[in-house]
Amino acid sequence: MTFRALSALEQWQDSIQADLQQLEVGNLRRYRRAFELLPDGSLLSDGQRLVNLSGNDYLGLSYEPRLIAAATKAMESTVGARASALVSGRSHWHARLEKTIAEFEGCEDALVFPTGVAANVGVLTALIGENDIVYCDRLNHASLVDGCRQSGGRFRIYHHHDLSSLKRQLMQPFDGGRRWIVTDGVFSMDGDIAPLRELCELAEAYDALVVVDEAHGTGVFGERGRGVCEFLDVEDRVALKIGTLSKAIGALGGFVTGRRVLCEYLLNHARTQIYSTALPPAICAAATTAIEIIGQEPERRQRLWQRVDFVRERMNSLGLLSEKSFRSPILSLVLGEPAHVMDVARQLEAEGFLVAAIRPPTVPRGTSRLRLSLHSELSISDLEQLSQVLARILSNGSEGAN
Ligand SMILES: *Cc1c(COP(=O)(O)O)cnc(C)c1O
Repeated sequence: MTFRALSALEQWQDSIQADLQQLEVGNLRRYRRAFELLPDGSLLSDGQRLVNLSGNDYLGLSYEPRLIAAATKAMESTVGARASALVSGRSHWHARLEKTIAEFEGCEDALVFPTGVAANVGVLTALIGENDIVYCDRLNHASLVDGCRQSGGRFRIYHHHDLSSLKRQLMQPFDGGRRWIVTDGVFSMDGDIAPLRELCELAEAYDALVVVDEAHGTGVFGERGRGVCEFLDVEDRVALKIGTLSKAIGALGGFVTGRRVLCEYLLNHARTQIYSTALPPAICAAATTAIEIIGQEPERRQRLWQRVDFVRERMNSLGLLSEKSFRSPILSLVLGEPAHVMDVARQLEAEGFLVAAIRPPTVPRGTSRLRLSLHSELSISDLEQLSQVLARILSNGSEGAN
């Protein structure tokens, strides 16, 4: 028999196949699925209606008729933007969106990016210099971590919410450039919020600058829906805010808000802004309409919080709510091992509820969890049923395990 050495191509294909098999064995493999939106905000998948507890569309704006009408009108003239914003991709739709964001946020100016991820990476790499130090909460979103790492600045992690560890690091002598504290406003995997007042106090005491990613905060927290900085009254104390147009705003894109000089600087230095095509005008039109609605219809936000309180009250009476659980539209039930989480998620799905099974690498090992994210258009009776079904599944599961 003659053996032929595997070619580089064959070897590589074998190795990625082996990787997938390993993920499969560990219950960590993800698959592509297709979901269609039904008129009531639930999803259809493989012929089954699923109450959606897995999205980020907190106010149900992604399918709101006024957004669709605005997008459709803009779409009559063009689909793509044809070029980056700096070349010729920017239109009056983009200008109006940036003006609307700045007004809503009470800031001098705003700059939009292709996505929230692009905003984080672009802004952090443009602002953080090689001589700077950047401090990140351990549970910050991957794109914040990527931006900080790619910046070339010295990268430091502090434990989640651990202000004393951060303080110890800030107290060390430093003769470099600037120091930055970068944090999520709402942590996307637990739903808790950053201690922004204390972070701002530390920043002020040690001459550091605070950057907040409001991805899950915009439209949800704060009296006017500007996010966690508004909620904790630190809007004037942070250097800048980064946000996304793809969660409560229901469209697509990222943005930065702050001083005009900052936006002008980023326009000239943020690589994800310079080298990526501008957002489609239809998306800008939809996002503009969404921000107007968020400003004019606080009742949507109230509906969301009513549902948050309802589910928390039900979960609490069923003994499912952890003491540390924060009042937030994101509700995490940490179950530990991926196999257990996948099993509970499958059973919930069989009963018509779609929840996210969050596993490593998204969260640390041993903390795999069900993540329920609520939105304003869920029906109370669906939520009541969800609580019952969840309690039943979890109590069966623990009997089985004993
Ligand atoms: C979702 C998310 C992003 C990314 O936003 P996209 O617009 O989806 O790219 C950034 N930061 C945080 C904290 C997020 O949760």
